[in-house]
Amino acid sequence: MGPYPTLTVAPNLETLAQSAQSFIFSILFGTTLISTAPNRQPVPTENTIKKASLLEIGEIYIPREVDMPCFASLSSAGPDAGSSAHAFQWGNSRVKLAISKEPSSRLRLAQVNGAFRIYLDDKVFIDNVKVLPLAAHAPNQAFLNLSGECMMGCAFCAMAPPDKKESLSPERVLRIVAISSKQNDFGAVAITSGIPDSVAATNGRMIDAIKAVRAEYPGIPIGSEAYIEDLADLARFKEAGATEVKINIETWPESRFQKICPNRNFPKTMESLEEAVKVFGRGKVTSNIIVGLGEDDADIIAGLKALAGIGVVPNVRGIRVGPKNREKLEKALGIVPNKVSAERLISLGEKHRNVLEMNGLTTETFETMCFTCRCCDIVPMADL
Ligand code: SF4
Ligand code: SF4
Repeated sequence: MGPYPTLTVAPNLETLAQSAQSFIFSILFGTTLISTAPNRQPVPTENTIKKASLLEIGEIYIPREVDMPCFASLSSAGPDAGSSAHAFQWGNSRVKLAISKEPSSRLRLAQVNGAFRIYLDDKVFIDNVKVLPLAAHAPNQAFLNLSGECMMGCAFCAMAPPDKKESLSPERVLRIVAISSKQNDFGAVAITSGIPDSVAATNGRMIDAIKAVRAEYPGIPIGSEAYIEDLADLARFKEAGATEVKINIETWPESRFQKICPNRNFPKTMESLEEAVKVFGRGKVTSNIIVGLGEDDADIIAGLKALAGIGVVPNVRGIRVGPKNREKLEKALGIVPNKVSAERLISLGEKHRNVLEMNGLTTETFETMCFTCRCCDIVPMADL
């Protein structure tokens, strides 16, 4: 059971507690988001409100004198693709932040008497924060990207276009998983890939990698994040040993998808999500929806409802804009998207949780990928 912030106090005290949280939020954001909500309304904790602020800012400066206990990870996929990043935890909240080279960055990590502390605009923001070791890309799991090159050219994606068309072999995957598995809290493997040549060949390599991991680690949960053209690939992923699948719809509605992912097929993606639920089951299929691509909240909610309606547990992710996607986004959208505000992330998180509950779904059924990592998004059932 996740840390749902149920306040086990009498209703009048609960209202007081909610007002206190509302007060904290109003100090942080200059607005009052939370009113006296009914008992079942998700209520963001102070930690979640802080996490949303960190996600909005997205990067942290770490001075040389800070003695980091582990190496940063250089991601080739995910929202921090192309940048080095560290993951942090305080309470049950986790976040992954890109490392900024700018000493004037709004967020700064410091070490005080050996303990790590995050400052926001020169004020102590989070004390006693843990720096999380990353197994491979993510804490507790080896999340491997077989190829950092992709021919699909999605506007938000930082992945490079095809060049060398190299891909990690199953042997190399096994070597990385073996190193990651030496960490005490190692618990999952996930495989994704850019598409350097064709969807069929890419999925074939992913299936081979999954088979190799399954043969060596019979009990480990294995996630797979793929683009599907041939629906029969889903049964092949399952037979190879994958336990969960992520097929990203990326945005909503279809007209925006066509601008953002011009070389991918929206109806085929929805069809493959439906098929994936048949093959893997409800609560074992997920899909990213990116916020900040010019849509309004009603679009996001419509997408969440459509996905949850077919048994998919969607994940809501704020856009991150950097040197590798700024130009592509401007070309596709006509504007460079702004950062998604903490307030919007929290507000959508509350609605996201409601949509999941309305459909009898939860993020807690997942054992791999982003719902267990919890570093890049406001995750319903974990964060609120
Ligand atoms: S399919 Fe699109 S989002 Fe996925 S790796 Fe390729 S370019 Fe990036
Ligand atoms: S939340 Fe997902 S994308 Fe972000 S670090 Fe974790 S596994 Fe990677």
